Amino acid sequence: MARNATEPLDVLIIGGGFAGTAAGVTLARAQRTVRIIDNGKPRNRFSAHSHGIMGRDGASPMELLDQGRDEFIAFGGEVTQNEVTSLEQTGNAWTATTADGQQFPARQILMATGITDELPDVPGLAELWGSRVFHCPYCHGYEVRGRDLAVIGGRNPRFTTHMVHLMRKWTDRVTFFTNGLSLDEADRALFEKRGVALMDATVSRVQPDPESKTGVLVSATDPIEAGDSASTAIAIDQALLDEELQQVRGQTHE
Ligand SMILES: Cc1cc2nc3c(=O)[nH]c(=O)nc-3n(C[C@H](O)[C@H](O)[C@H](O)COP(=O)(O)OP(=O)(O)OC[C@H]3O[C@@H](n4cnc5c(N)ncnc54)[C@H](O)[C@@H]3O)c2cc1C
Repeated sequence: MARNATEPLDVLIIGGGFAGTAAGVTLARAQRTVRIIDNGKPRNRFSAHSHGIMGRDGASPMELLDQGRDEFIAFGGEVTQNEVTSLEQTGNAWTATTADGQQFPARQILMATGITDELPDVPGLAELWGSRVFHCPYCHGYEVRGRDLAVIGGRNPRFTTHMVHLMRKWTDRVTFFTNGLSLDEADRALFEKRGVALMDATVSRVQPDPESKTGVLVSATDPIEAGDSASTAIAIDQALLDEELQQVRGQTHE
């Protein structure tokens, strides 16, 4: 029997990426009335392949999401493609309003809106994000293991230096472009001990290496003279959820 649209849902999920959709499947199977509202910008949409997904390594993230959404609908879930622009609480219930003015009352709200990556302001970098430039070696490091990898400094110094050390698990050929980050003597000594090539330079541009499918050419200026350094992939520092960062740290502390 069709549900009365004015009756509050048991759960309204805002955000239908991997987290929101997985929760939706479980809730729909638990016989809750549940709707996902999603505006179609999952974080990994820039990548053609998802890795480290048990049983589906290498699958397209968008195909995985479509399949998850089909399962959700098959178990009775409902989906609205739109953006939630406001959320109001009245008594024990909530009302979400979408950009086109639709209203959705619900007893419970599950926020699964993810995060937005803030990339360093390096020309050419955004265009290669998710195809040749990545932030997570656990997801995309295996495919470029053993090759020349570059790390470009971003706005989170501790994460950047951690990432440089982490990369040594995948290759012994790591180049770190500090890109404005200042390092203390202890950092420098540790990089030297671990065989990391340090470039105290500002990265002026990254571009695809026409000689390879995964390669990137990194151009750096000041204080070293402009020049190109070929790398087979680069990983960059960017804003990560604290939770995800802790997970990375936990797995790599020796
Ligand atoms: C380039 C790249 C490659 C990655 N590769 C891998 C990989 O290989 N393996 C792996 O395990 N992980 C990978 N990740 C990490 C993975 O993308 C995240 O862990 C995952 O997407 C988190 O899922 P989520 O549902 O929390 O957020 P998201 O997937 O970002 O989903 C959030 C959803 O909420 C929607 N939304 C946000 N605000 C609103 C609103 N107001 N109204 C309606 N909808 C809204 C967004 O449009 C989006 O669809 C990668 C990440 C990046 C950036």
